[in-house]
Amino acid sequence: MRLGLAANRLHHQTDDGALFNWMQHCEAGIRELQLQLHTVGRTYDALLDAGRLKDYPGLISYPYGRQGGLMQLVAEVVGMGTPERTLDGVVYLMDPVDPSSIFPEALALKRQCVIHGKPFLSTVASARDWIEMERIHAGFAPDPGADAFHHLEQHTLALIAHDAMKPTMMEFVSRNFDLLSRFDKRVGTGTTGQQLNELAWSKGWPKDRMWVNRFNSGPLGGDAQIAALVLNNQCQRAIFFEDPHVARQHEADIQLLERAVTTATTTAVCTTAPQVAQRWCDAAVKRASLR
Ligand code: PGA
Repeated sequence: MRLGLAANRLHHQTDDGALFNWMQHCEAGIRELQLQLHTVGRTYDALLDAGRLKDYPGLISYPYGRQGGLMQLVAEVVGMGTPERTLDGVVYLMDPVDPSSIFPEALALKRQCVIHGKPFLSTVASARDWIEMERIHAGFAPDPGADAFHHLEQHTLALIAHDAMKPTMMEFVSRNFDLLSRFDKRVGTGTTGQQLNELAWSKGWPKDRMWVNRFNSGPLGGDAQIAALVLNNQCQRAIFFEDPHVARQHEADIQLLERAVTTATTTAVCTTAPQVAQRWCDAAVKRASLR
């Protein structure tokens, strides 16, 4: 498997930066999975300087940002014809107050991941959780270091779907209802939440209880309300099925939620691709059966 890798400056300029946090927890898993990391200039240099992934053949150097390294990752998320030049997803450790996090290539990187159903991992927590998910699918024993991501009974899950993606969200929740019901709480934007509550009631969830606590509809500020929960560490996981193919009146709110998640980089996991969300549920069920 091949992932693109880039981190904004904040996340690799000090020893406790998010990039090194990820390495500390996942270097062994990266090696186990023989994951290739196609790594943009300064992020690559920072790993080398820190002696991380030393002599690892899967660590591959890409041009610096100013030479188009991130733009190249976008094209390879789409796919450049050969397997070596087609990425399975991206780790982009984002600092929301770094101007480069809103450069067109950074926005396009996420958008093409969404369009092609590939993981866009913008926080340390998302990247750690993804490695553990792949380890479980590959048959490795659960890493106790990743237990925190599977204490669902202590976590709040946010569920949001744009209109074109609502049927996909209903199908996803229907298929994984028992697992998703294990979360301490679920929150959602207004319309998504309403539809999910009706689904839950049709599945026998008690009629006098909400399965999802509903906030405003997205365009009326629901994304911002959920972002505030994430920032206060009151929501640890968001599953957000975006529609990348339409002009979105509340684009700023959508970006705000994504950026709030990256502010809570060590605790918040965000999943934007239905395929990845399903793969995570399957891994969570398998992992629970192994412990
Ligand atoms: P909704 O909001 O669940 O109220 O439709 C989601 C969105 O459009 O952001």
